[in-house]
Amino acid sequence: MEIAAGNKDNVIKRAVKDIVDSRKTIALTGAGISVESGIPDFRSAGGLWSKYDPEEYAHISAFRSNPAKAWNMIKDMMELVLGAEPNPAHIALAELEKMGLLNSVITQNVDGLHQRGGSREVIEFHGSNQWLVCLGCGYRQDAASLSFEVIPPRCPQCSSILKPDVVFFGEPIPWEAQNRSFEEARTCDLVLVIGTSAVVYPAAGIPPLAKQSGAKVVEINMEPTPLTGFVSDYLIQGSAGQILPQIVEEVRKHAA
Ligand code: NAD
Ligand code: ZN
Repeated sequence: MEIAAGNKDNVIKRAVKDIVDSRKTIALTGAGISVESGIPDFRSAGGLWSKYDPEEYAHISAFRSNPAKAWNMIKDMMELVLGAEPNPAHIALAELEKMGLLNSVITQNVDGLHQRGGSREVIEFHGSNQWLVCLGCGYRQDAASLSFEVIPPRCPQCSSILKPDVVFFGEPIPWEAQNRSFEEARTCDLVLVIGTSAVVYPAAGIPPLAKQSGAKVVEINMEPTPLTGFVSDYLIQGSAGQILPQIVEEVRKHAA
């Protein structure tokens, strides 16, 4: 295993060669890819998650027992996401897809920034902030239409509590997203693992599954993770918003 420190340019060139040589490449992204859009990850100092402990606020039992408390956090998160724009990392992944070099993005994020950055094949492993779902009757509503005047918001059809259509801790992964993701992992020959601490399962099982199926695993992260040195073939250490555009630039040079 190699950590790219002094020789980052060489490791980027190596990643570019691997991407160009790969028959099928996928990406797994986590909260780290949206940090440069101003949405803090669970580790960022300050910001949303120092105010709200995710274990306390993002657990389904906490939501069910005190939805009004959980909705304070959700409101802040939704406002952050609404004000955020895709950053160069999201856009670079969309470009790789357009060049025919990236089959799909499996994201643990709920912010919709991959789609807004231009990616088409996006599998939302943990759902999306864009929709609200009624816990009583299953009614769905676009979150953009929410005024936040009354918290927690209630279903216009049956008055039960509305919940964002995201996977809280303690909830199952949407069946189709999980199936498609595992299939992508089993059939790819390169997975880019970007901005995830790789500790939240079952998403964290995707790189090892790809590896077992013969794929290369390339991490892009500010710091090593539990995959580093065990599952990853190498780590390109640094910010996704800098590294991914560099990769796209090198791919273009490679193709020219
Ligand atoms: P995490 O917060 O546990 O880990 C983020 C990882 O990204 C860390 O390893 C960190 O070193 C790395 N990182 C931070 N900034 C980076 C940058 N600029 N470039 C590259 N790497 C960077 O996030 P996780 O692994 O995704 O797990 C947390 C869970 O919480 C997930 O389910 C996630 O979807 C959810 N969450 C989502 C959002 C969002 O939708 N934007 C935000 C916070 C948390
Ligand atoms: Zn309802």
